[in-house]
Amino acid sequence: PIILGIETSCDETSVALLKGKHEILSDIIISQIDIHKIFGGVVPEVASRKHIDFLYKITKEVFQKANIKYDDIDAIAVTYGPGLVGSLLMGLNFAKSLSFSLNKPLIGVNHLMGHIYANFLAFKDLKPPFIVLLVSGGHTMIIHAKDYMDFEIIGKTRDDAAGEAFDKVSKMMNTGYPGGPVIDRLAKMGKNIYKFPKPLYNNGYDFSFSGLKTSVLYFLKEHSQANIEDIACSFQESLIDTLVHKVVKYSNDSGVKKVVIAGGVAANSLLRSKFDGIKNINIYYPNLKYCTDNAAMIARAGYEKFIRNQFSDLNLDAIPNLGLKEL
Ligand code: ATP
Ligand code: MG
Ligand code: FE
Repeated sequence: PIILGIETSCDETSVALLKGKHEILSDIIISQIDIHKIFGGVVPEVASRKHIDFLYKITKEVFQKANIKYDDIDAIAVTYGPGLVGSLLMGLNFAKSLSFSLNKPLIGVNHLMGHIYANFLAFKDLKPPFIVLLVSGGHTMIIHAKDYMDFEIIGKTRDDAAGEAFDKVSKMMNTGYPGGPVIDRLAKMGKNIYKFPKPLYNNGYDFSFSGLKTSVLYFLKEHSQANIEDIACSFQESLIDTLVHKVVKYSNDSGVKKVVIAGGVAANSLLRSKFDGIKNINIYYPNLKYCTDNAAMIARAGYEKFIRNQFSDLNLDAIPNLGLKEL
């Protein structure tokens, strides 16, 4: 089948055409970062309006690039949650109008499942069971993927998500938005000389990053002359080491040796190099382009529902706090 994927859960507007399991015929991702960074974070109202601006235009473009007709698609897969309600509704209503007018089935996709499925685009032979470390702007979880659509949540954050902690620390240091890529870059020029806390390090599989964030805040207040690269490096080391430590522990406890990383923080270079250095774990992460929000991953997750005949009604609603188990 050919599946049109649509993603508008936050501040990326993206459309993709996926043929079969792996072949991305064309895809476009428009990031609104330049618009939102003036405000130091995503402004929901602005994000929704920009989605309307971009959706029609880039949808036309992906069909032109792929050189296929609207009628050549077999289904329309769209993110229906989790995310910002206004943003979600833009993509969802656009997808519904297309579904209605082209008479093609609609498939509602869970954005988190999309992030996990970005790995199936990169690794054609990847099969469950595996462990997922889902680390994004809004989520941080260790998941045991027992089958293609059977996810058990092993641990999650009790407060801030990993990406959120990166974004907030960068905001405190006045180094820009989004914070993940900025801190990743600064850290490469710094040294790990400050000992920031590693919350819940030897305590189960849950995470907690708000204390780490606050301790960086106090440190900044007390040491206004401290080197920003060293702070970035030390903060990143605490956070990433905690993530890796818990995943390795779960891998040892469960005996599952395949570990799949998903979500925007999967782009982090320290995370990647730490996992690469661990023997007897096979590590997978999406191509850099497909770590953060994109429609190709939504189309890929949509494919999995398509082959199972899991279609949605045209009254499908946006669910801002959709959980991973609600597929
Ligand atoms: P969710 O998927 O939970 O709804 P989201 O869609 O906003 O949230 P993503 O698009 O998956 O999140 O990822 C964005 C996050 O990834 C941001 O918090 C950003 O700072 C972070 N990020 C991106 N690149 C890096 C990097 N190199 N290192 C660390 N964090 C990164
Ligand atoms: Mg984004
Ligand atoms: Fe996301």
